Order: sequence, then C-alpha cells, then structure tokens
Amino acid sequence: MNFLLDLFLPKFCFGCQKPGSYLCSRCYKTINFTNVTLCPVCEKPSPFGYTHFRCQTKFGLDGMYVLADYSGTLRHMIHYLKYRHVFSLDEILVKMLLDHYPSQMPEFDLLTSIPLHPKRYRERGYNQAEIIARLFGQKKHLAFSGRLLVRNRQTLPQMSIKNFKTRRKNIVGAFSYANKIPIGGKNIAIVDDVATTGATISEAAKVLKQNGAEKVWGIVLAR
Ligand SMILES: [Zn+2]
Ligand SMILES: [Zn+2]
Repeated sequence: MNFLLDLFLPKFCFGCQKPGSYLCSRCYKTINFTNVTLCPVCEKPSPFGYTHFRCQTKFGLDGMYVLADYSGTLRHMIHYLKYRHVFSLDEILVKMLLDHYPSQMPEFDLLTSIPLHPKRYRERGYNQAEIIARLFGQKKHLAFSGRLLVRNRQTLPQMSIKNFKTRRKNIVGAFSYANKIPIGGKNIAIVDDVATTGATISEAAKVLKQNGAEKVWGIVLAR
C-alpha cells in the first residue's frame, strides 16, 4: 500500500511544497553541503575526508566523505525515505551526491551498505541505505553487494545515544563478515544515509579489513 502511494502521489518540494518535484531548484540551493571535509578519526580538516596519515590504523577507515549537514530539507527528505516509504526520493538524493562527488576520491571495486538486523528489515521491509548505495553504484558503474556483512544483534539507534563511548560499545561486535563474496585486496566504500559519529561505519570497516579488504571508505549523505 505504501508502495502504491509512492507511485501515485503527486510530487511536492520538500522545502517549499511547490508541486512538480521533491526538491525545486531554489530549495536545492538551501542544502548545507559540506564545505570543510574532516578526517573521520580526529575530525580535523582533511581534503575530501581522507584519514590523515598520522591517524591511520591497520583496521581503521581510510576516509569518509560526507555530502551535507543533517539538517533542514535534507533531514526531512532522508526521514521520509527511511520511515515513510517514499522510495523514489532515492533519485534526487543520489543526484545530489553525484553533483558534488569529488573526482579526487579513490577508485572503488565494490560498494556496500550497513545491514539492518533481519528483524528490523522485516518490520520496515527495506533498507534505505541499500537503496541509495545500489542506485549510486548503477550511476557510477560500480558493483554493489548488500551481503558482505551480517548483523549479529540488534543495537540501539546510534542517534538515541548521546555519549560517544557508549555509542562505540553499542556497536562493537555488531557485524561479521558473511563470507559470501570475496573481498581480499578490494577497495570498498560503505554508503550510508546518515552517520552520527561514524562509529557504525568504522566498526563495519574494521570487520571488512580484518577479512582482507585493502581500503575501506565511508560515503555518507548527511551527518
Ligand atoms: Zn522548493
Ligand atoms: Zn586525523
């Protein structure tokens, strides 16, 4: 039913309600796109989000590209993709990412997304991060697999936890390598809709690198 609503409802701008599209050109300009990219480890400025040489560790993230601030109209749109089944928002969200994606990003062999716990997946019926990652892969002609990792247990939503240490603890051990698709020597990007601290993506990157991945990045719509 929600799927049908998505197909037949007329489109309105999420910013100003103007009919015709989910984001009019005027409201597109109000999105707070990232102007200073940060190292995912020390959170100090670093070009394109590369992890500083001094911040690199064996199983750590090699970089994290963040498209925009999680605020205003973009926050509203991501919320609708995530909880209100407005799947067709993926087109405009991925277009935003493609419009800004720096040519200086590394080459990736494979894209993936953070898996939901099977129980949550059944409740929601889809994984919004997977929808974004898959479409981004199609547009960039990059392979996508949502089956690199499995979620071992349900975790509290990271956004609901204020304390950084508790967030880390909440997510450590949450993923294992599914051992279905070879990742040895591969450069992998984990595409996600929202990152709060990056703890979830860092934990997923750790598991991929422990299982042979060469480099792992995060590519995030909003933070
Ligand atoms: Zn508008
Ligand atoms: Zn750093």
